[in-house]
Amino acid sequence: MSELEETLVLVKPDGVARQLTGEILRRIEAKGYEIVDLKMLTAPRDLLDSHYEEHQGKPFFEPLVEFMQSGPVVAVRVAGNGVIAGFRSLAGTTDPTSAAPGTIRGDLGRDWGLKVQQNLVHGSDSAASAARELGLWFA
Ligand code: ADP
Ligand code: MG
Repeated sequence: MSELEETLVLVKPDGVARQLTGEILRRIEAKGYEIVDLKMLTAPRDLLDSHYEEHQGKPFFEPLVEFMQSGPVVAVRVAGNGVIAGFRSLAGTTDPTSAAPGTIRGDLGRDWGLKVQQNLVHGSDSAASAARELGLWFA
């Protein structure tokens, strides 16, 4: 009994570079979610500063923002029942090393090692985040 929602998904630069965009979108559509809008861009610094504002000041903030600027990303507006939590479930936990098999990060992510930012996808973590992030990326 979940509600119809929209969320922001990003295929991060590692996902685009590894040619996993199609596989990631396939998993979203196979689940029954709808791709409502989509674009590829190399994100400007100010957009990433806003997008990751909750992480400003953390030790991984600067490497994260640099990584996110290192190549194009694919930004996707995705709709579906309970899609905000549902996509987070499809994506798996943050660290691909421990993400469960069957998830995007668990199946396709590489062991984190030194490249801790590289976990293929972003998904909004709440209704408030989704509204805020969709406003930033699809202004
Ligand atoms: P999630 O993307 O699963 O919501 P967070 O919001 O906690 O994770 O972190 C945002 C992004 O920052 C992560 O997806 C990952 O790319 C990076 N990140 C998170 N924690 C770390 C960490 N400890 N070291 C390096 N990068 C991190
Ligand atoms: Mg997050």
